[in-house]
Amino acid sequence: MEIRRNPFTGERVLVSPHRLSRPWQPEGFCPFCPGGPETGQGWELLLLPNRYPVVTRNPPTPTQEELFQAEEAYGQAYVLVETPQHDLDDLSDLPPSQIEKVLRLVMKAQKEAEEDPKALYFLFFRNKGKEIGVSLTHPHSQIYILPVVPPRVETELRASEEWYRQRGTCLHCLITTREEKRIVYQNASWKSFVPYYARWPHEVHIYPKRHVSHFTALREDEVRDLADMLRKTLCAFKTALGKPMPYIMVLHQAPLRVETPHYHLHFEIYGMYRPDGKLKYAAGAELGASLYTLDTTPEETAERLRKALANCVTNPRPFRAGMGKV
Ligand code: UDP
Ligand code: ZN
Ligand code: ZN
Ligand code: FE
Repeated sequence: MEIRRNPFTGERVLVSPHRLSRPWQPEGFCPFCPGGPETGQGWELLLLPNRYPVVTRNPPTPTQEELFQAEEAYGQAYVLVETPQHDLDDLSDLPPSQIEKVLRLVMKAQKEAEEDPKALYFLFFRNKGKEIGVSLTHPHSQIYILPVVPPRVETELRASEEWYRQRGTCLHCLITTREEKRIVYQNASWKSFVPYYARWPHEVHIYPKRHVSHFTALREDEVRDLADMLRKTLCAFKTALGKPMPYIMVLHQAPLRVETPHYHLHFEIYGMYRPDGKLKYAAGAELGASLYTLDTTPEETAERLRKALANCVTNPRPFRAGMGKV
């Protein structure tokens, strides 16, 4: 178990062969349901240490060679079980108060991570849908507390810092005011839009209107509004094509304890169905060359998601429409 680095690209590989034995879409058994050996009874949501973690508190020391460098896979991996209800389709099917509880639990975990000097990054993400390889469908998200900054965030940090150095403003703050054409939804403290540079067929970025670098720095009202934002945006994902959309959601924020006037936290959600309902695969151009092909325009996608979201708001049973079991 170690974190290897590609010296050409700066990419990292979390090498953890023991993960091969984790349960893969088991039938008739769910480790996250109430009453299990790790879950017990009488809870609304749970933060469980991942049984097959990519990082651990006591990692082995990797062997170092001149050209082959690895870091200790130090850290913690958690699964956040968002509800006792196994058959609920998505986070957006929970009441806003429960989504808020999920967010507050993430915040609590991050506050703890801030106390650990060896933890450099707090990565919160959610994989949704068997179509993209979710191993367990019980509603859950995940947390990785890492000794390295994820390369994609590092790339964004570098560009943001460069902009700040030259012009003294946050590029993210600026972009959120210029995405009007592609906006999906906004409430008192958040804005969501399909970015001009979207890579995936249904990609949405969600920004707090106030410049905030860390998830733990969000105010009470901002957390409440984020629950509203996520509920509506994910409902739009579910209803836009008349069938639940597999997606990946990830929080991009500044490294732990580093205040950044240039880096503005945001969620990125990648909805993986194309407008015709077919799954988009990353293949030769995407994986082999970092060249993304988009069979639609971000402007059209924003329009489709806006309409779906309006439907979610006016429908009397908004967050239940057209779902059922996936
Ligand atoms: N898992 C766990 N306890 C179990 C079974 C699975 O903690 O009893 C973890 C597993 O290691 C995996 C996660 O639950 O990381 C399920 O995550 P998901 O399918 O979203 O993505 P994965 O991490 O498998 O790519
Ligand atoms: Zn379950
Ligand atoms: Zn900003
Ligand atoms: Fe980002």
